[in-house]
Amino acid sequence: MVVAIDGPAGAGKSSVAARCAVALGFVYLNSGAIYRAVTWKALQQGLQDSDADEIAAVAQSLDIEYTGGRLLIDRRQRDQELHSAAVDQYVARHSAIAAVREMVNRRLHQIAEQSNVVVEGRDITTVVFPDADVKIYLDASVDTRAQRRWQQQEGDLSLQQIAERISSRDEADRKKTAGSLKQADDAIYLDTSHLTIDEVCDRVIATIQNTSKYRELQS
Ligand code: C5P
Repeated sequence: MVVAIDGPAGAGKSSVAARCAVALGFVYLNSGAIYRAVTWKALQQGLQDSDADEIAAVAQSLDIEYTGGRLLIDRRQRDQELHSAAVDQYVARHSAIAAVREMVNRRLHQIAEQSNVVVEGRDITTVVFPDADVKIYLDASVDTRAQRRWQQQEGDLSLQQIAERISSRDEADRKKTAGSLKQADDAIYLDTSHLTIDEVCDRVIATIQNTSKYRELQS
């Protein structure tokens, strides 16, 4: 079974998808983390503004593995490095490269063939799994999203700087030629601005449990 969740940065996708996956015994897949891994590796090699072929080569040789809902890069978890300001700055550009998207989508499909998954990102409901069993679009105002990221951050960016970065990443993500951020016609829209993570999870889990596919899995 595939549960697909899309939405802009800070809408709560990662927290919600991870918790729902644990609650249902599904594998949690964070596609943004794989794009971030490509950018992190590229930056390590001094390739921030390099051409598409060089970034694609980084993506092809990336050593990644998903175990227990955790992304390992070169056999190690690197959650902190993946959320650096530098990665934030370049990831939208690198993830616009077609060969990079193909690599990420291939990996997601390989895992989904073997397990029930909750996958989150920007184009999961539209491009990667257009036939997903459940499709959710999580949203929230820019102010709410900036506030959430500001509270989570370990750096020293102001609330306004974070809001500006979120807005410019949203814009880049919405304008991408391939895999742009948009709501699928058949996705359930959920504005999380005034909801807690628990409230969002309860709604998402109830939606999943109400599907015939989920009932089939349980019987
Ligand atoms: O979800 P997160 O904010 O970590 O994603 C980082 C970036 O990766 C996004 O801003 C977007 O540019 C890219 N991305 C994407 N397609 C996805 C998931 C993420 O292009 N399915």
